[in-house]
Amino acid sequence: MRRPFALALLAASACTAMGANPTGRRLERMQASLRWRGDGFMDLLPRQDPGIIAATSRFIQGGSEYASPSTEIPIVARTRASFATPPKRGLRVTWLGHSTLLVEIDGKRILTDPVWGERASPVTWAGPKRFHAPPLPFEELPEIDAIVISHDHYDHLDYPTVLRLVDSDVPFFVPLGVGAHLEYWGVPPHRIHELDWWQEAELGTHRLVSVPSRHFSGRSLRDRDQTLWTGWAIVGPKHRAYFSGDTSFFPAMAQIGERYGPFDVTMIESGAYNQLWADVHVGPEQAVEAHRLLRGRVLIPVHWGTFDLALHGWTEPIERVLAAAKKHGVVVLTPRPGQSFEPGVDAPPKRWWPDVPWSTTDDEPVRASSRNRRIPAVRFGTPRPEFPSWP
Ligand code: ZN
Ligand code: ZN
Repeated sequence: MRRPFALALLAASACTAMGANPTGRRLERMQASLRWRGDGFMDLLPRQDPGIIAATSRFIQGGSEYASPSTEIPIVARTRASFATPPKRGLRVTWLGHSTLLVEIDGKRILTDPVWGERASPVTWAGPKRFHAPPLPFEELPEIDAIVISHDHYDHLDYPTVLRLVDSDVPFFVPLGVGAHLEYWGVPPHRIHELDWWQEAELGTHRLVSVPSRHFSGRSLRDRDQTLWTGWAIVGPKHRAYFSGDTSFFPAMAQIGERYGPFDVTMIESGAYNQLWADVHVGPEQAVEAHRLLRGRVLIPVHWGTFDLALHGWTEPIERVLAAAKKHGVVVLTPRPGQSFEPGVDAPPKRWWPDVPWSTTDDEPVRASSRNRRIPAVRFGTPRPEFPSWP
């Protein structure tokens, strides 16, 4: 292939992976949201942004020498047959790496932030690369009832994976605006359900609820906060699960716990943190605090162990979660990528990662700003978010 032509093809494919901006009725609906501030979505609390220069210079200084594993991650290889028998008590969670989880709950299978791609990036030749192969090959995925997406960052909304899902009939539940990307990539509109915070979608006997999170969005330099970010409460007839997506800490997590908890399991992001961006990633200690506010029974820390997205050691998130959990008597489950867990049935998974040096919370604390800022209580029974519009 002639070089200019090959380069043009590469650029075109990167542009396609960046997705599309919402327009028309979709945009009107976004603009009607209480979260819309005129040129994009507004976060729950004022966001202290380090700015691209400070963040880049921090990255240039470098991070832990243990940022990625030096030995192979002992994944549990799975096939479709692994899921042929339903969970004994109705709930089984399988961590497929990073924020991809297969949640089997009261007879339904729900897949969160499906990422089978090799890199969390718009291009196939650069960007954070997986530490381990997907423990469940995509072709082996059992029948799925719904996919929930938390936001449009590359490590959560994976273009190559969405392309493989286009020909299925699985519905997507996404925050406002994210449907524009899906439609652009070929997912038919009738399979896309876009929700604002506190809105619920019915899935037969189950409810999928978009719950507030504190993060940001964007797939290029030009679309920051143009789509919403969200967490998900998955409410079945007998069990309840919470999936954080990416979020920082905010006191109103207690409102999610009051309204939709107690949760049999919480799946909370625990990696990719740094004090510089503590208003967009929760970090290990606050993940444990969040779990308590959410009224969770067991915590599965996710968003670690698959991609190197920050500066900390690759095992540091789980070490710090365990240290914080011990102080508060929180039960933490640490499955290997690919491992399933059935609460009340399985013994807690054993430690599987190596002992490598890590920084403690005293060395490198992570605390969100505005932690004590009061947010008025949610008025129950209203379909709209009741969080105030911050100036
Ligand atoms: Zn993100
Ligand atoms: Zn992420």
